[in-house]
Amino acid sequence: MFRELFEGLAAAVPGQCAVCRAWPAHPVCEACVARFAQPRPRCRRCALPVAQGVAECGRCLAAPPPLDACHAALSYEYPWSALVTQYKFGGQAGWAATFATLMRSAPWVEPALEDADLVLPMPLSGERLAERGFNQALVLARALVPRKTEPGLLLRVRHTRAQSELDLKARLRNVQGAFAVEPLRHSAIRGKRVALVDDVMTSGASLFAAAQALREAGAARVTGLVLARTDEPH
Ligand SMILES: [Zn+2]
Ligand SMILES: [Zn+2]
Repeated sequence: MFRELFEGLAAAVPGQCAVCRAWPAHPVCEACVARFAQPRPRCRRCALPVAQGVAECGRCLAAPPPLDACHAALSYEYPWSALVTQYKFGGQAGWAATFATLMRSAPWVEPALEDADLVLPMPLSGERLAERGFNQALVLARALVPRKTEPGLLLRVRHTRAQSELDLKARLRNVQGAFAVEPLRHSAIRGKRVALVDDVMTSGASLFAAAQALREAGAARVTGLVLARTDEPH
């Protein structure tokens, strides 16, 4: 099913909507954006869906994460999951512009970008970067706000096991200490308001670990900005 969808989307010709094939509409038509990218109420700390009028989910109330705020533009499901796969693994970096537009259209993202002194992409380990050829979070951050994007401040200092094989507790353990601020550049973070950008958030464990490293380096505020989030805690 997924494979079929992926191949179908990959085969969309330029000038057609990559989702419904409406023509001319590229890369995703307005009707598909209206249908699949409706904003939904989300926890302000971790971006999990919540009921209308609820500000924070129970998990964040019980144990506040190291992020001051977190905003997700989309749910990580059809059709976005397949498009993100093309972007990330199909080497189609051109999707970044569309994804950045979708993010900017989501509530709170634009003000968060304006408020930020620095926009930092979630770093990849050297091994993963070599595998993929580019850091999808960096390309996305640059498409959002090039002049505030700083790729070298937050480092991935340890290669970790693929998170998808682990439950939440194990994920948190897996990424502990995986991120660090460039030792010679702590002063660039101290007192700064930081937006941390990633393409997909699942459990949040990586984003939380990165936010923790930024806090320890003295960041005044850390906001997560993600294109898509899985809607169930993983
Ligand atoms: Zn469409
Ligand atoms: Zn939450």
